[in-house]
Amino acid sequence: SRPEAGGDTNPEKLLTPVLSAFWDQPASWTLETYRRHEGYEGLRKALAMPPDEVIAYVKDSGLRGRGGAGFPTGMKWQFIPQGDGKPHYLVVNADESEPGTCKDIPLLFANPHSLIEGIVIACHAIRSNHAFIYLRGEVVPVLRRLQEAVREAYAAGFLGKNILGSGLDLDVIVHAGAGAYICGEETALLDSLEGRRGQPRLRPPFPAVAGLYACPTVVNNVESIASVPAIMNRGKDWFRSMGSEKSPGFTLYSLSGHVANPGQYEAPLGITLRQLLDMSGGIRRGHRLKFWTPGGSSTPMFTDEHLDVPLDYEGVGAAGSMLGTKALQCFDETTCVVRAVTRWTEFYAHESCGKCTPCREGTYWLVQLLRDIEAGKGQMGDIDKIDDIADNINGKSFCALGDGAASPIFSSLKYFREEYEQHITGKGCPFDPAKSTLWA
Ligand code: NAD
Ligand code: SF4
Repeated sequence: SRPEAGGDTNPEKLLTPVLSAFWDQPASWTLETYRRHEGYEGLRKALAMPPDEVIAYVKDSGLRGRGGAGFPTGMKWQFIPQGDGKPHYLVVNADESEPGTCKDIPLLFANPHSLIEGIVIACHAIRSNHAFIYLRGEVVPVLRRLQEAVREAYAAGFLGKNILGSGLDLDVIVHAGAGAYICGEETALLDSLEGRRGQPRLRPPFPAVAGLYACPTVVNNVESIASVPAIMNRGKDWFRSMGSEKSPGFTLYSLSGHVANPGQYEAPLGITLRQLLDMSGGIRRGHRLKFWTPGGSSTPMFTDEHLDVPLDYEGVGAAGSMLGTKALQCFDETTCVVRAVTRWTEFYAHESCGKCTPCREGTYWLVQLLRDIEAGKGQMGDIDKIDDIADNINGKSFCALGDGAASPIFSSLKYFREEYEQHITGKGCPFDPAKSTLWA
């Protein structure tokens, strides 16, 4: 049932607003507004089911993690051992920081109760009495809104003791991180939550076995958990009627960069960037697409040749990239690829936690070489050097940050190697930064 590539561009048919259905309404974030839009109905249905049935139901829906990796949500819940006598925890990863990724923060700002309802359902399923929301600390207005929504949920009996008479007790704690990208990596996040410096742990054991305080823990992305109430309320078949067989359902696509109308577009998995651009007004007037990322800067870049790649895990994977966070950053022909890659690499070098040598040293050296090339001070051998350094980071680092840092190097060399060469032979950048709105 994958939507036709380059086919229907009627927004009425392509958009599937569920999480974003009432973002435009006054006070969309309040409990009152949420309850007018089926709010907490999915929870009632879930609480009437035994926990294992809820897990099986979410598993059957085919929901896959929306934090980037696409791991099946129900399967992750099923990994939590039962009858082990240990506390179980749910930790929501709201530390969204991947360059270009900007879906969870607007979702929390506009519709925080979808997350809270999803948390209660998930905790019922995995038999947990404690949930934590680890929020990116810089977004103070979202922190306040989330705290207020949690207060409202307690007051209405959706959190706290004996929720809706079900016997479930649940406390939710909102925790603000201190603004380190690495704390979005699930095990670094757990270290940070425990009060230590956030650095990745060796996996396995995965958090499902030994997570927060060494107890079984589910770590899920905001959008994954917020999608659960609608699945419980409207049914797994309804969810499966959208998207593709292996990547079902609706999702938030974040369109940014040189586009006429940047923003969040909620649509089925498996639609294409061409369809999204057609319905959203396209690339900014008078310009054409040069390159784009399917899911943030960690996912290998695509070009205009990839406009019809289905935006689901299989389609993007088969075309040589990863769906990631569905952060579609679009760059037009005025953008210098070397400059864009230098900016991203500076980000990774700055955010590298320093635990392992390939990433800590490699990202530093990449930045030095890229800055030289970009400034027209590079030598021809530098191109092979950055390729070689990226090769020594990729797959040889302790966590996914290293692979993410190598990814824009490889893909930019694959599609735009001659642009690097032009910088070196021409002893400078051939692009006029004044023409690109991105660097203004
Ligand atoms: P991963 O594939 O290693 O793991 C995905 C999830 O599945 C994890 O929760 C993990 O615990 C679980 N899992 C995997 N195998 C398991 C097993 N055998 N048993 C139990 N649980 C198992 O991916 P990752 O390294 O956690 O995350 C990488 C992704 O993060 C990338 O795809 C990237 O797009 C994304 N990312 C997102 C952001 C953001 O801001 N949202 C930032 C950086 C990266
Ligand atoms: Fe830290 Fe980078 Fe190594 Fe990850 S890959 S552990 S961020 S140094």
